[in-house]
Amino acid sequence: MQRKLVVGNWKMHGSRPANAELLAALLGARPFGADVAVCVPYVYLNETAATLAGSDIRWGAQDVSAHEQGAYTGEVSAAMLAECGCRYVIVGHSERRAYHAESDALVARKAQAALARGVTPVVCVGETLAEREAGETEDVVKRQLSVVIHQLAHCAAEMVVAYEPVWAIGTGRTASPEQAQAVHAVLRAQLQAATGHGAAMKILYGGSVKPDNAATLFAQADIDGGLIGGASLKAADFIAICRAAG
Ligand code: PEP
Repeated sequence: MQRKLVVGNWKMHGSRPANAELLAALLGARPFGADVAVCVPYVYLNETAATLAGSDIRWGAQDVSAHEQGAYTGEVSAAMLAECGCRYVIVGHSERRAYHAESDALVARKAQAALARGVTPVVCVGETLAEREAGETEDVVKRQLSVVIHQLAHCAAEMVVAYEPVWAIGTGRTASPEQAQAVHAVLRAQLQAATGHGAAMKILYGGSVKPDNAATLFAQADIDGGLIGGASLKAADFIAICRAAG
């Protein structure tokens, strides 16, 4: 079994004192037995890098521009993230798809921009409740992923995929381990068919992962770790989830 990966998504939360406290707690709780990273707001990247440098905890961002550079006010490029030492960047999070109208094609271009600068994209896919109830889950996630696979071409095996059912994000409603595993198996098969390296690729589950459900989710054959939102802001909860992955 491959080593698991747990990525915290702080979203638009944090402050200097709160971040310092959280990161100190994480550093003090190592080793986890799993790979761990935190994806923080852009403005905290340098401080996070300074705090985590020399440790085995990685850091990253929550979005990236599809453009290399230029007159794109407010955007942050993959080269800038690389300069800040980012190992990961989340792309295609459902909050960005929903509130910033990000299309599958834009998400794919962002993933490509990240990889071109050596930053691993954590590509989020997931269905809405209406899509699940209409029996469209498999079609939706396969469509979202296929656009990225096509764009990345021979580099597709280098991405990390996160299955995040939209109805489970921040709602306290988690996909059952069986529901999550079923979708992960579909994604694994799609990655294997496209890249030939599906078994070695990481597919994370995200959506209301908590200390009390993490171990069961991570025990599923095709769940290689988690993308953790709310619980990544509470040191004790995030540490417990990271330990459950170890
Ligand atoms: C997320 O934001 O990626 C997420 C999974 O959030 P939560 O864990 O709070 O559901």
